[in-house]
Amino acid sequence: MVAACSEPPGAKRAANAILITCDTLRADRLGVYGYERATSPELDAFARDALVFDRAYSCAPWTQPALSSLLTGRPPEEIGVTPGNTKRMGKSVETLAETLRARGFATAACVSNGLVRKVPPNFAGIGLEQGFEHYDSEMTAREKNRVAFERDASGTTDAALAWLATRPRDGRFFLWVHFQDPHGPYLPPPELAAEFARTPKDEKLPLGTTQRGLGQIPQYQNLDGENRPDVYRDRYDAEIRYFDREFGRLIAELRARGLLDDSIVVFTADHGESLGEHDQYFCHGENVQREQVHVPLLVRPPGGVSKGAERDRRGYARSNAHVNHLDVAPTLFEALDLPALAGWRGLPLSEPSTLPRERALVQSFVAQRKNVSEWAIGDGRWRLLWRERDEPRLYDVLVDPGELRDLAAEQPEVVARLQAAYAEYERSLGAQDGVETALDDETSKGLEALGYVEAPNR
Ligand SMILES: [Zn+2]
Repeated sequence: MVAACSEPPGAKRAANAILITCDTLRADRLGVYGYERATSPELDAFARDALVFDRAYSCAPWTQPALSSLLTGRPPEEIGVTPGNTKRMGKSVETLAETLRARGFATAACVSNGLVRKVPPNFAGIGLEQGFEHYDSEMTAREKNRVAFERDASGTTDAALAWLATRPRDGRFFLWVHFQDPHGPYLPPPELAAEFARTPKDEKLPLGTTQRGLGQIPQYQNLDGENRPDVYRDRYDAEIRYFDREFGRLIAELRARGLLDDSIVVFTADHGESLGEHDQYFCHGENVQREQVHVPLLVRPPGGVSKGAERDRRGYARSNAHVNHLDVAPTLFEALDLPALAGWRGLPLSEPSTLPRERALVQSFVAQRKNVSEWAIGDGRWRLLWRERDEPRLYDVLVDPGELRDLAAEQPEVVARLQAAYAEYERSLGAQDGVETALDDETSKGLEALGYVEAPNR
């Protein structure tokens, strides 16, 4: 079977594209990425037929810029969404769904984060709905501590299965499913909360009166006055297991319908979550440290990864290539046998061994109101982070994944190289596609309620 061995791991062409995303999901809390707790048996099983990317990054630690980049293949700086979640993507920006719909694909999304809800007239949508002929953002539950709407994992999978049952029988499709569960407040089903609860250590934190996570439990995370961070960490794990169970139900149905092997399936998270690192607790959108922007990324080619692909001792075909969310659009289009769009800067991930080494990739977190902006550029090993007025910090994430030891003073040549790469990146940015569009009042109020935007008077 020499031919099978020489075949690239993700070479087969796909009829359909399926993108599954989960909000606020850290890679290192998943079995496939080495976590010791059984948070993700379904995802781990799926990953055995996928390419597993160990060095994958989001473009931003916020939902809006992260998902907007993922669904357009373009960096936040070019599509009008850099300042956190406060801006709508430019209406002239072409989304993957728009392109695929124009090429005859049926396009459907089932999404469960209140931020991406589109229920006119009060929630007009923030741009991610563009191009989806079926956009199911039905959310009836209000989150604890927030007036925001959400839908749990069971409802999300039900919505996706309902569309699969009624979709047009002939023709190709693009399906996007976005789960919300690991996003705080952490309220897993009681049986999973019990299964993952351990005896917490004595460490205690102040209960915050703001939505920020620096040295405190953010107000929206507060669970009946609980002030021991370990309790929140366990509940975060239980939320992942709840999502995982429903992810498994979705994959099983795709398999039963014969759609899994006809499709390219990509799984990732929009961003990570701080669980106490750098003194940030149970929050994201505060910085671009690794815990907030390193994400899981699994690419399942049609039929699964080829039998000849090299695997680790646990049976996973892994890649340590440096990749980010901008690579997802070209990966999907290559598998669908469609040409890449102008303006894309990502690369297809079907043959990871051919990806350039030491690729420089950028993450940004740009201030909305009182927050401080932060940028990062990395090459797969080194990450350089800086804020407007501070000296840059440099981390070697291969030996220091927690980014605790700043090596900027010891490695001036690495700092200079990454600074030059960032200057080159800035020069390469095209004009913003569409002006930044302020959100309508209702959406702004909704975001404020979500804790995404600080109200002007507090
Ligand atoms: Zn998010």
